Amino acid sequence: MDAARQGAAPAWRNWAGNVSDSAPLVTPESLEELSDTVRAAAERGKRVRVAGSGHSFSGIASSDGVRIALTRMPIKVDVAGTSVTVPGGITLKRLNRELDSRGLALPNLGDIDAQTITGATQTGTHGTGAGFGGLASFVSAITLMRTDGSTVTCARGEPLFEAAVVGLGAFGVVTEVTLDCVPAFVLRAEERPSALESVLDGLDDLIAGNDHFEFFWFPYTSRAQVKLNNRVDAIDRPLPGWRRWLDDSFLSNTVFGAGLRVARRVPGFTRPFMKVSARGLSARTYTAASHEVFCTDRRVRFTEMEYGLPREALREALTGVRRVVDALPFPVAFPVEVRFTAADDPWLSHGHGRDSAYVAVHQFIGMPYEPYFREVERICLDLGGRPHWGKMHFAAPERLRAAYPRFADWQAERARFDPEGLFRSPFLDDLLP
Ligand SMILES: Cc1cc2nc3c(=O)[nH]c(=O)nc-3n(C[C@H](O)[C@H](O)[C@H](O)COP(=O)(O)OP(=O)(O)OC[C@H]3O[C@@H](n4cnc5c(N)ncnc54)[C@H](O)[C@@H]3O)c2cc1C
Repeated sequence: MDAARQGAAPAWRNWAGNVSDSAPLVTPESLEELSDTVRAAAERGKRVRVAGSGHSFSGIASSDGVRIALTRMPIKVDVAGTSVTVPGGITLKRLNRELDSRGLALPNLGDIDAQTITGATQTGTHGTGAGFGGLASFVSAITLMRTDGSTVTCARGEPLFEAAVVGLGAFGVVTEVTLDCVPAFVLRAEERPSALESVLDGLDDLIAGNDHFEFFWFPYTSRAQVKLNNRVDAIDRPLPGWRRWLDDSFLSNTVFGAGLRVARRVPGFTRPFMKVSARGLSARTYTAASHEVFCTDRRVRFTEMEYGLPREALREALTGVRRVVDALPFPVAFPVEVRFTAADDPWLSHGHGRDSAYVAVHQFIGMPYEPYFREVERICLDLGGRPHWGKMHFAAPERLRAAYPRFADWQAERARFDPEGLFRSPFLDDLLP
């Protein structure tokens, strides 16, 4: 491990600040150093977790052995038509930039671009859009570093791939990812307030009639904010810089954050604040490069749980969430986000084998959340829900495993790949039988 840098074990903390540990950090600068690091850890009996950007809310990135970050690894981008191979540690922000400069783009993205491509795919990260699976469904091949420091490449359709592409960090170090990209495209973003009931009544048309549809419901109100993103030919309605700053930075982050800080100190302020926020929702339409529309800045910190549901269960789930919110002994200070994806194949994808609707519940950082999330989780599990691996969940491991029909196959593949459990972690110890 000489060449690889080993830090003095600063405490590691995730983005939301709810998970931390003090595993020593190693940041190799080449494949050889990475291989040495993995082998050295194996020889010393230390378990290995690879770090992404620390944006998971669950304990999935937490390490009780060695943490390896790929931040110093060289970034090489290989393009063959619209297929692009990148290092596993590249951030989505950098990846979007690299693709854009080559006239390419990912077909869909989530809300932010701070994650690494592998951190995102390992947990089943998704955006919204009835025609699109999660980000892992754009991956056609991955290269994995095994416990002995050697590498193996596997491709879509092979059992190892379907297990490892949404692999919860259990399949070694993902050193390379090959992605099916598309020619760069422009989105027209349309955002408008609406009555929640009319959104739910028109759900099928909204889902089918738009490339990317989602909505946010504001607790204590019957209001929702609808977001419709559709492919168009040209950027003919750019958002002026001042308007982007006003909406996405000042109102969504600065003003909203200030209101939430008051709500945290004075819980009685929360309901009126949610109502005022819902009344203040406004409409806007603009066009921009796809990644600029999909991804925004999230400076207001929160905790989150998200469940994927069979799409037809959404209305019942939301009715339940509204009942839970009204009955809680503390206020909920964050909108509930609802998204949609197409069925996809990875064995532990939330959308495996079924069209999904997602219900994501949030709470401002520092405010109570667990009773809220637990109640919502109970409703979602009873409706056939599957937890997002990168977001909080509390259910018993046997219920989580039962939510994924290919869990036993995943487990068998994991055991074959890593019989000694070098890439296991406290999170996986809890999950695995
Ligand atoms: C503000 C915010 C917005 C979000 N928006 C969305 C969204 O729109 N949609 C959505 O689905 N989720 C969203 N998430 C969740 C987020 O996408 C996931 O938690 C994601 O896993 C975080 O990626 P990361 O790079 O931070 O990975 P980390 O959280 O650091 O790690 C996640 C897992 O990946 C493993 N891993 C990372 N790199 C490698 C590698 N090279 N090889 C092997 N294993 C590796 C880690 O060991 C760990 O098990 C959001 C989170 C936040 C904080």
